[in-house]
Amino acid sequence: MSRFLRPTLEGLAPYVPGEQPRAGVYVKLNTNESPFPPSPAVLEAINRDETARLRLYSDPTALPLKQAIAETYGLTPGNVFCGNGSDEVLGLSFLAFAQGTVVAPAVSYGFYPVFARLFGLKMREVDLREDFSLPVENFENAGAMVVLANPNAPTGLALSLEDVERIVAGNPDHVVLVDEAYVDFGAQSALPLIRRYPHLLIVRTFSKSRSLAGARLGYALADAALIDDLERVRNSFHPYNINRLSLLAGVAAMRDTAYFDRCVQAVVAQRDRTAQALRGMGFHVTDSRANFLFAAHPAFTARAYYQALKARGVLIRCWDDPRLREHARISIGSDADMTRFLQETRAILAERSIP
Ligand code: PMP
Repeated sequence: MSRFLRPTLEGLAPYVPGEQPRAGVYVKLNTNESPFPPSPAVLEAINRDETARLRLYSDPTALPLKQAIAETYGLTPGNVFCGNGSDEVLGLSFLAFAQGTVVAPAVSYGFYPVFARLFGLKMREVDLREDFSLPVENFENAGAMVVLANPNAPTGLALSLEDVERIVAGNPDHVVLVDEAYVDFGAQSALPLIRRYPHLLIVRTFSKSRSLAGARLGYALADAALIDDLERVRNSFHPYNINRLSLLAGVAAMRDTAYFDRCVQAVVAQRDRTAQALRGMGFHVTDSRANFLFAAHPAFTARAYYQALKARGVLIRCWDDPRLREHARISIGSDADMTRFLQETRAILAERSIP
């Protein structure tokens, strides 16, 4: 640390992303990426001519991408904000709307407390129940901006639309941000509520269900006034936040609904097959509605399981947080990836003489 860092940032512990090892070394089930390549339409859109145009700045309005998103969800471009990954959208949302305190579940996406710290906000964590379910009533009248992931991460558990509406309706004077990074894999979106609640901000990503984690594309859907506020902040920070090739990739991926549907269905089928197999081996597995599983075995900690799998060439994710000591997160990969993962898990149990 240099002597020039702002003293308020001295205690900042940055977000730690999952490992990104060299390709091909591991079966990589640790960062919730899609096992499928982007839509073939994306590959066509990013051609030589477009690459040559990289000498030009990208479109600071991102209008074609906003149009494609708006058409998909029955909104207008004025209801859509685009960012460099949903992490950027989340960060700009905290910057624009959080005042003093942010309220979030005690177990949720690890970036929320980091943003809070970065922007000098207090984070009020609301405990989950023992089974990781969310006590909805404790999010009503929160008295500050509320941030939720639905489905939640890393538990995979989803809230019903009624419960999301209770939380939104219960906080009319603060922005309620619903992070729907994983919603396409089987949860109910808060989208139908946008027209009725001008303080509801939905944040989504192209990283999971649209196979574009490396393109860095996220978006927000909300009442036009909230979107205008986000644009004001973005244009005061980074007007060219989305590069030319990612803009094209995003439009192509959003329009290829048939490919999107196929990928999502394949991930969901694979998730359910893997969950069932793990339960058969004695794991506790939550009812995940995301593209990952959250699983614990009574015989070992998540870290021991992580280490044993890593030694066998499979990467999953675990945390040091005491609330997450037992459960590991396993991203859903291809059929071959998950077959290998289950095979290595069986071998680990056999090694320890666990039936
Ligand atoms: N929200 C949640 C809940 C996530 O798990 C992630 C992925 N790490 C993100 C947002 C950010 O995704 P991205 O920046 O790739 O859009």
